[in-house]
Amino acid sequence: MALIKCPECNHSVSNSADYCPKCSTDIQSHLKKLRVIEEAEIRKNAKCPECENKLSWIRYKHYSYYGNESIVYGAYCNNCGYKDGMYRSAEKQPRYYIEIDN
Ligand SMILES: [Zn+2]
Ligand SMILES: [Zn+2]
Repeated sequence: MALIKCPECNHSVSNSADYCPKCSTDIQSHLKKLRVIEEAEIRKNAKCPECENKLSWIRYKHYSYYGNESIVYGAYCNNCGYKDGMYRSAEKQPRYYIEIDN
């Protein structure tokens, strides 16, 4: 557990709290937004493990056998043709993946 600042009222809140005790801001969706930004930043700077070229990303919607939906990212390298596991499984099982816009 860690303390973070509420984005609305600056009150110190536990990062495991659902809502800010002072102003009722939804803390978990705030943290989720931060994580999405953080992950996008990591993807932007990711380099190809084979040739150090900047990786390109494709966003997919993935469906499990049970119909659960999730967003996955597949990386590929324009320079050497490297493809990561997500990219390859999306190619191998296209019926479980739908490519979506960024
Ligand atoms: Zn607050
Ligand atoms: Zn490469």
